[in-house]
Amino acid sequence: MNAKFDVVITGAGIVGLAHAWAAAERGLSVAVVERDARAVGASIRNFGFVTVTGQRAGETWHRARRSRDIWAQVAPLAQIPIAHRGLWVLARHELAVPVLEAFAATEMGAECEVVSPGEAAERAPWLNVRGAQAALWSPHELRVESREAIPRLAAWLAEARGVHFFWSESVLEAGPRGVRTARRRIEAGRVVLCPGSDLTGVAGPYLADRPLALTRLQMLRVRPLPALRLGSAVMSDLSLIRYAGYAALPEAAALRAHLEAEEPESLAAGIHLIAVQSADGTLVVGDSHHDDAAPWPFASETVDRWILRHLREAVAVEDVEVIERWTGVYPIGGGRDAVRVTPERGLDVVVVTSGTGASTAFALAEETFADG
Ligand SMILES: Cc1cc2nc3c(=O)[nH]c(=O)nc-3n(C[C@H](O)[C@H](O)[C@H](O)COP(=O)(O)OP(=O)(O)OC[C@H]3O[C@@H](n4cnc5c(N)ncnc54)[C@H](O)[C@@H]3O)c2cc1C
Repeated sequence: MNAKFDVVITGAGIVGLAHAWAAAERGLSVAVVERDARAVGASIRNFGFVTVTGQRAGETWHRARRSRDIWAQVAPLAQIPIAHRGLWVLARHELAVPVLEAFAATEMGAECEVVSPGEAAERAPWLNVRGAQAALWSPHELRVESREAIPRLAAWLAEARGVHFFWSESVLEAGPRGVRTARRRIEAGRVVLCPGSDLTGVAGPYLADRPLALTRLQMLRVRPLPALRLGSAVMSDLSLIRYAGYAALPEAAALRAHLEAEEPESLAAGIHLIAVQSADGTLVVGDSHHDDAAPWPFASETVDRWILRHLREAVAVEDVEVIERWTGVYPIGGGRDAVRVTPERGLDVVVVTSGTGASTAFALAEETFADG
């Protein structure tokens, strides 16, 4: 039952799969061990929104650009459709306009445009520009349907890159020379643990001194009534004080103060709007953030209603039918968007400690294997 590979990876979420891709690209033999029968964690619960604009300046923004390019290269090979491209950020409050303008003037805004509500409506008639002050267009983003994309990526890695998957096996012990599950010992020259939100399991000893916590998000899938076709993702004012690429700008302080007074409930629930569209016309809409060491399993209807109000404010929907609701969890903290710990040569732990794994995992994985 024992097996031997150059690299063994724990976790078949996007971080584990990206590491499997990066190792296979280097010609290494790779095994991925996943405790569930298929990935059901954050990587399939997210928006599938590969976001560049709005990511924290520096490392995270660079990783997002590189990961977006890798998604664009891998998606057609793995038969993963790109649902749509680009992003509109709608400024509803006048204090949001200086934030968009300041962002557009940075290196990160180089290919973005700030346009009037009228021009935004012409280019994206589905936007609700009533009362809006301006909009930012970013051409950088991609959207994939994560619940389909993640299994397709795993299947393609298995078929086209020879990655071996051990499904329904938990890694119980790990060291630089391999891992042990209840069924087998898997030997490897290199071990990478990508445990997602499992901060206390096999990677626990290596993360114990990091100030990490968890946050839980509420998400919905809705059918717009009547049907409408978005050409890209949409965000709005609350995103400008949540996403570090905007929120770190001095201009964001006045907007934050205003929104704290005007939208206290949304801020308390960590709500900001992202809406993306699927091939069947439904919209994936979110989200809220509830920080908790042990995420509360009960979703709040009130929070969902607030999220849907923000959707109506940004998108010209008359009504929506809620098709699905779900929650997801990801790790936060440590003062970084991602943590890589290398306790010994040959053993790495990689955890995305922000809601950016779909946007940055491929670049993170390349960095892990950059030394060979
Ligand atoms: C609701 C929601 C919306 C989000 N939206 C976006 C977005 O639009 N864009 C974006 O970039 N990011 C987004 N994120 C963040 C992104 O989804 C995560 O950063 C990313 O999925 C993390 O990937 P992961 O592989 O580390 O974790 P996961 O997907 O949770 O995968 C970890 C895997 O490891 C397995 N595992 C853990 N321990 C063991 C063990 N001992 N043995 C075997 N297997 C083990 C688990 O079973 C799991 O399958 C969102 C997150 C959520 C929750």
